[in-house]
Amino acid sequence: MTKKIFWQDPYLTELETTIASIDGNQVTVAETIFYALSGGQESDAGTIGGYKVLDAKKEGMEIFYTLEDGHTLQVGNPVKMVIDWERRHRLMRLHFAAEIVLELVMRRFPEIIKVGAHIAQEKARIDFAWDQTISPYLPALQQEAQAIVDADQEIISAFSDVALERRYWKINEFSEVPCGGTHVKTTREIGTIRLKRSNPGKGRERIEIYVS
Ligand SMILES: [Zn+2]
Repeated sequence: MTKKIFWQDPYLTELETTIASIDGNQVTVAETIFYALSGGQESDAGTIGGYKVLDAKKEGMEIFYTLEDGHTLQVGNPVKMVIDWERRHRLMRLHFAAEIVLELVMRRFPEIIKVGAHIAQEKARIDFAWDQTISPYLPALQQEAQAIVDADQEIISAFSDVALERRYWKINEFSEVPCGGTHVKTTREIGTIRLKRSNPGKGRERIEIYVS
């Protein structure tokens, strides 16, 4: 099973590892810094052994990488893995901005139900099932989230269960939140948060999150 170095060091952009298995264009590696879509956070972009990774897929605790055509890799080959740091860092900032917004919304409206979340490079979004509108709370929500960011709180990310690879994060403000994504070290790193509300359907509320 791939050792997930992106948890112990989410700031690593290059890694020397070895090819653990090959099935056509799909490979696994001994250790990885290349995140695969999970918990709403999109996959990284990058290369393995100089070959572009077209897709990263998490299945159970394994991660399968699909490489571009024409690779000549063999099992046991040492390879260098490189990820697109600009993309990853935006994903980490947007991810944690979304975490803060979600916790604040749940605290304010305990009856609201989260039905989806997605973190892309340009923006994040959280979807709720709710029969009211979040609009009147949005300016205060943005301020509250920004205050937590500006307080430059340390973000603790750790295992709650090593064998099952269950992770959580924690800041002063909230109790432990289960999450297997990659997180920044402190809230200040997020920058400036901007929120937008939309209504993707009846009984649905969406909050879009931007960072700059
Ligand atoms: Zn998270």
